[in-house]
Amino acid sequence: MKDQMKKNKWGMETLKLSTLIAEDEINKRVASLGAELTKKFKDKPLVAICVLKGSVMFFADLIRHIDTDVTCEFLGVSSYNNAMKSSGEIKVTLDLSTPVEDKHVLLVEDIVDTGLTMNYLVQMLQARKPKSISTIALLHKPEAVQMPLKLDHVGFEIANEFVVGYGLDYQGYYRNLPFIAQVQNIQ
Ligand code: 5GP
Repeated sequence: MKDQMKKNKWGMETLKLSTLIAEDEINKRVASLGAELTKKFKDKPLVAICVLKGSVMFFADLIRHIDTDVTCEFLGVSSYNNAMKSSGEIKVTLDLSTPVEDKHVLLVEDIVDTGLTMNYLVQMLQARKPKSISTIALLHKPEAVQMPLKLDHVGFEIANEFVVGYGLDYQGYYRNLPFIAQVQNIQ
């Protein structure tokens, strides 16, 4: 299958894409998630944690819709190593810059697939004794989940298919698509 995939002149494999979630649909959903979180954290200062790199678009859009005092933190996590399947191995490549002890924390993920990453990160944060941990993922693949999971807010539930765009990559590319696309020519 992969042999048939064309490469452009920079060696990037060109995927056949079909739009799964359009830009305006994402924008509307993100605004309503922001409103939900504004209600939840009214008068409670919040530490929003962006899980790099895939959550970067969602995070940037979401926090602009949260109307309370928000500080931003970034966690670098690597689990896929450019492959298509979750290895189950999670490596923290960048840690938070400030302690979260006694603070309300919002963990912002792009997508929950097996749930291994989210689970790992929640456990890691719990050990740092925050006042509360809330979790949010733009996308959730319920069929792929391998373990019980604390997922408080979800943008869209999708089928167990590989997607790219709006932060999500294939081999480092396609993150800059403003919509979410399903890939037609990889399994
Ligand atoms: P999990 O640990 O839940 O299996 O996987 C979480 C991470 O795997 C996500 O943060 C994301 O980086 C990557 N991932 C899972 N499913 C997809 C997908 O359909 N497309 C892309 N591009 N990445 C995915």
